[in-house]
Amino acid sequence: MPAVSSVLVAGAGLAGPAVATRLATGGVATDLIDIKPDGSALGSGITLQGNALRELRRLGVWEQVRAQGYSFDSLGLRAPDPFGTLLVELPDVRSGGPDLPGTVGMPRPALARIVLDQAASAGVKIRFGTSYTGLDQDASGVLVTFADGTTGRYDLVIAADGVHSATRRLLRIAVEPRPTGMGIWRAFGPRPASVTRTDLIYGGPCYIAGYCPTGEDSLYAYIVEDAQDRSALTPAQQLATMLELAAAYHGPWDDIRPGLSDPSLVNYTWFETHVVPAPWNRGRVVLIGDAAHSCPPTLAQGGAQALEDAAVLAELLLDAGEVDEDLWSGFHQRRFDRAKTVVDASNQLGQWLLDHEQGDVPGLAARVTALVSQPA
Ligand SMILES: Cc1cc2nc3c(=O)[nH]c(=O)nc-3n(C[C@H](O)[C@H](O)[C@H](O)COP(=O)(O)OP(=O)(O)OC[C@H]3O[C@@H](n4cnc5c(N)ncnc54)[C@H](O)[C@@H]3O)c2cc1C
Repeated sequence: MPAVSSVLVAGAGLAGPAVATRLATGGVATDLIDIKPDGSALGSGITLQGNALRELRRLGVWEQVRAQGYSFDSLGLRAPDPFGTLLVELPDVRSGGPDLPGTVGMPRPALARIVLDQAASAGVKIRFGTSYTGLDQDASGVLVTFADGTTGRYDLVIAADGVHSATRRLLRIAVEPRPTGMGIWRAFGPRPASVTRTDLIYGGPCYIAGYCPTGEDSLYAYIVEDAQDRSALTPAQQLATMLELAAAYHGPWDDIRPGLSDPSLVNYTWFETHVVPAPWNRGRVVLIGDAAHSCPPTLAQGGAQALEDAAVLAELLLDAGEVDEDLWSGFHQRRFDRAKTVVDASNQLGQWLLDHEQGDVPGLAARVTALVSQPA
């Protein structure tokens, strides 16, 4: 018997649909709510490392991810010179196992649709445009007051409501993300033939200029700069600013720039980070994914860590007889150090860039890759 028979999951990003799918498949009546009016995801593309692919395969969606994304097995480092000279091609470690590619790039809306469809197929009841305003718990469950005034009682509430989690505040957990000092321009556009994997250029006028193929016909490109207030720019000015910064970068960038022409596909955001100290639960309410920990995407591990939280929590809930201290200590033993190590390493990489310091990037990346190559 699973430890729970009814669960409410808040947040239909990555961790939410993943944990909901697992629980529903295991026979738990699972509701999934999201404050967004519908399931469409914003954002350009996402880089999925092997350990994220391993979790997506366990979720039963690997074939869709493979078909709708772009797989590759190496990372290029290029120089910020007039030719974008290729300095080195580093083979990816296949952290999800030898039978999965090292990396897949895909459009975020496509990934969002895949995980939501899988949740619906598993029998999860999904409601958009709703959230909760109250969580009153006793020893055996949680009485949830929804924003429209209705209530529902559940054995457990899983908050996967993202980096600015309202649940954290409801639980009076006084941890909020802090800006790391960097801002990122991202744009979605057509893939030129010269882009067949992620290449990164460190240096030049910005910290990082990179791109990732997301399909036969698409890619996302990004430029990382000092965090600035860019909020006054119109979409057309945002596009012009990104193109101006990108003009300093060459090689495949010369093929990418002409395709970046739609201002609605350009986005600017600051990097943020936080880790909620263990425990991530307060009684029968638990935080997972970005609600519990967030990192700048310098190692492209945020999504993977969110998926791993979801997998481990669902596995424990389905295997344990009850929701008790053993269950929570097992969850935190498997998740806290691993997620914190990834967050710390992602921050360290960013800090070396901010400080213009030559840190041991290959050593740090190798340590994280070795860690995440182990099943969560
Ligand atoms: C610029 C940038 C680039 C990134 N690139 C990568 C990358 O390439 N690879 C990677 O692995 N990771 C990347 N990440 C990190 C990745 O996006 C996150 O780690 C991942 O989306 C976390 O998943 P999640 O389900 O925890 O949260 P989210 O995906 O943020 O989902 C949270 C959901 O909760 C909903 N919600 C919010 N508030 C409420 C509420 N009160 N009630 C109900 N629902 C609510 C939101 O609408 C949303 O749907 C990047 C992050 C940033 C900022």
